[in-house]
Amino acid sequence: SLQKPFHPAADTDYAAVEAREQSQRAFQQVRQLFGKTYLPLVNGEYVSTEEIIDSVNPSNFSEVVGKVGLLSVEQAEQAMQAAKAAFPGWKNTPAKQRASILRKAGDLMELRRAELSAWIVLEVGKPVKEADAEVSEAIDFCRYYAAEMERLDAGYNYDVAGETNRYLYQPRGIAVVISPWNFPLAIATGMTVAALVAGNCTLLKPAETSSVIAAKLTEILVEAGFPKGVYQFVPGKGSKVGAHLVNHPDTHLIAFTGSREVGCRIYAEAAKVQSGQKHLKRVIAEMGGKNGMIVDESADLDQAVVGVVQSAFGYSGQKCSAASRVIVLDSVYDTFIHRLVEATRSLNIGATELPSTQVGPVIDGNAQARIREYIEQGRQEAKVAVEISAPDNGYFVNPTIFTEVPPTATIAQEEIFGPVVAVIRVKNFEEAIAVANGTDYALTGGLYSRTPSHIQMAQEQFEVGNLYINRTITGAIVARQPFGGFKMSGVGSKAGGPDYLLQFLEPRTVTENV
Ligand code: GLU
Repeated sequence: SLQKPFHPAADTDYAAVEAREQSQRAFQQVRQLFGKTYLPLVNGEYVSTEEIIDSVNPSNFSEVVGKVGLLSVEQAEQAMQAAKAAFPGWKNTPAKQRASILRKAGDLMELRRAELSAWIVLEVGKPVKEADAEVSEAIDFCRYYAAEMERLDAGYNYDVAGETNRYLYQPRGIAVVISPWNFPLAIATGMTVAALVAGNCTLLKPAETSSVIAAKLTEILVEAGFPKGVYQFVPGKGSKVGAHLVNHPDTHLIAFTGSREVGCRIYAEAAKVQSGQKHLKRVIAEMGGKNGMIVDESADLDQAVVGVVQSAFGYSGQKCSAASRVIVLDSVYDTFIHRLVEATRSLNIGATELPSTQVGPVIDGNAQARIREYIEQGRQEAKVAVEISAPDNGYFVNPTIFTEVPPTATIAQEEIFGPVVAVIRVKNFEEAIAVANGTDYALTGGLYSRTPSHIQMAQEQFEVGNLYINRTITGAIVARQPFGGFKMSGVGSKAGGPDYLLQFLEPRTVTENV
């Protein structure tokens, strides 16, 4: 294509002493701000709220990272009215100018990289190296969607003799963004700036457990220059504020990333036409996965072991892209399991502030209890190959691998969103593909193989949105591996890809007889 290549932001190199020192200083600075209160941003003002919640450090839940004010439904309604009032002005702001605000936001994130990583580590328990990669992704979303909007703004020209035909994009209106805690900066940023650069007035409602990072993002977006009412920060209860905004007759678009259960509910609710509503709502929903990695008899097992461990246990398995099923050909099964167990035993678990740590806690007590129930269920359904004991302060769960798991077992079918892996034994490659495709989801998938016919068959038949061959299945990079799935993994086009912004726009054709 004619497009200029996109250059992703570089991650921090923690091998450098200065980088490690800078990171340590950032942790100290962030800790000094612990316990501060963050308020919602409505029509350009930080407003006080009746309800305030604590956001705690999952590695040590006696530490209150910050307090966050939750909006009432009445206040959320004020935000909606402010968004409506701001829309005509934002719609008429040239796309180039909107894009330049995104670039400024990306630059501000780059300046605050170490600090933002520290907030991510401390609020959601993500090990620092992955938190840093998340900051890179947030920056990439700002820069890529800025460039994308400028590309789309040119529109298309289908003129013929005597008639001009112009195909142009306009914003849809009011966007409600409901963001998850597992990529509290990157995904919140991606959905929000996409909506904004397309000219929509946007309300961000983050997951409660990652509200402080969303407040940091808010500081950045305000400083970058989004006018009042154009961007608003609307933390609140999903069941009240979230539901009010989803059901609102003036909402045009909902961008959601989170669980299948909530995604399906939003999709259904948004389909109802409310009184006074003059349009149908667009829903973009990124939901779960039950991602499988196939290891065949020709695989480089050293590579496969490292790739599976990283894909399964990175951020304690709390990525919708994480590997949770490993499908292994009979002929290499025993050798592979032996090595997988050894590699899992050598994981660095615990201290999320160190760049060498690979596994931290899970997000909260509910998640911990839910994942432990799945582990108990697994003991009924399969064999425990290894269970590593994790620290007992904080919300830790033992990384666990089950083997000889029947493909229909609960632990092989339901998304666990924790450090739990189900290994399934298969006789041949055809069976491997059938098992891999045998869930409700189609998000990521992986294959380790050196057999060209297997690689080709996977390309053709492995039903996933993102297929990775001979590498990890997490860590998609903006404009390199546009990310997203189908089946029950979600609806809408891929984040960080060339079709993403189209979902936030309304195309129009203008024909003039000349
Ligand atoms: N984009 C992320 C990845 O490729 C996953 C996003 C998610 O978990 O929602 O690993």
